[in-house]
Parts: sequence; structure tokens; C-alpha cells
Amino acid sequence: MKIKILNRTDSEIQFLVEKISPAFANALRRIAMTEVPTMAIEWIDFVRNDSALNDEILANRIGLIPLTFDGKAYNLPAECKCGGKGCSRCQVKLKLKKEGPCMIYSGDLETGAKDVKPVFDKIPIVELFEDEKLEFEAIAQLGLGLEHAKWQAAVVGYKNKPVKEIERKDESEETKYIEDAFIFNLESICGLKPEEIVVRAAEILEAKLKDFAKELKKLE
Ligand SMILES: [Zn+2]
Repeated sequence: MKIKILNRTDSEIQFLVEKISPAFANALRRIAMTEVPTMAIEWIDFVRNDSALNDEILANRIGLIPLTFDGKAYNLPAECKCGGKGCSRCQVKLKLKKEGPCMIYSGDLETGAKDVKPVFDKIPIVELFEDEKLEFEAIAQLGLGLEHAKWQAAVVGYKNKPVKEIERKDESEETKYIEDAFIFNLESICGLKPEEIVVRAAEILEAKLKDFAKELKKLE
């Protein structure tokens, strides 16, 4: 297998992987999208909500705000030493208290951990009018994209590498592709850098294969 990075920005990475099968390319894509843990708000306790949106709609909207986090600092609740009860290794508290008139943005969330904060400060949450108040406490935790879209780490696509680079589309010539070479495009939609997601996805795939090999040995 040969890997070459073709392009990289803060949120996107494009890379070429050679000598792999379509099944491997698809496994990497699916894991990067749905099995790399990311941080999102899961529980909200509303102290007061005078806004035009009811608690459920507001909670859903707040849950979708992508949060930054230290990729090595947290456990999935189900895999945490606390047994899922909740501790500083699997939960982060956030809160908000505002009074109208004002627009409430993602950046208004006060966070209980330095590494956990909204990726973007200017995501509008809800508008408060005169004398309206909004106050809540929230808990963010790691989760997987296959449980809920709010934990999806990335949008990933791939295509076969063309035999020669096409600069301008020539209708008369049919484009030929290399069957075991894939160009991936991965855009991070969470608080992880795109290259962190690729590495994490590869580690998860490796762990899955090891488990599979172990199970197969039992059959011998
Ligand atoms: Zn815990």
C-alpha cells in the first residue's frame, strides 16, 4: 500500500492510496464517517426557556454544534472506567445563561473544559426578545456517527485515479482509471483535524481486523 497526500487545508484532506481493493477503500470511508468518536452535547437540563423554540427543538439544535476536543483525553461512556455513570474522562459540562433582547450564538456556551468548545462561534441558536431568558446546563460526551448524525466525524468520498491527469475534458477521449488506486476526499465536520480522522479510522480498522483474526484462531 502506498499513500500520498495531494492536498490539505484546515478542514479538508485529499490523498491517494494505491494497491488496495474497493472493499478496503469502502471500509476506510465508512469507518471515517461513522465510527471515529467525536464530541457533542447529549444531555440538556433547561432551567428556563422563554424562547420561541420549545426545549426539544432547541436541544436538537444545540446537539448539532460541532465541538473541539482533545482526541486522547476522553473515553466513550460505555468504555469508561466509571461504567458509564459519568466522570471527567467521559463527560464535559457546559452552560449558558442569557437575557434578551439578543441573538444567542454557539460562542455564548460557557465550557467546563479548556479543550471543549464550539468549532465555530457564530452558529445562531435562537433569538431572545425583550425580557426573555434562556438558561441551561448541558453535558457533552463522545459518540459515534452510526448512533446519531451529530457525532459524524467527516464527509468522505473516493474515486479511482485516472491513468493520466485530465487538464481539460476532451470528449473524444475516454478516461481510463487505475482500478487499485483511489483518491480520497475527506472533510472534517467535527472538532478533529482531517488527518486525525484518517489516522483514527485506520487504527479502528486495524483493531477490527485483529479481533477478527483472533476469532478465526478459535475455530482452528
Ligand atoms: Zn467516565
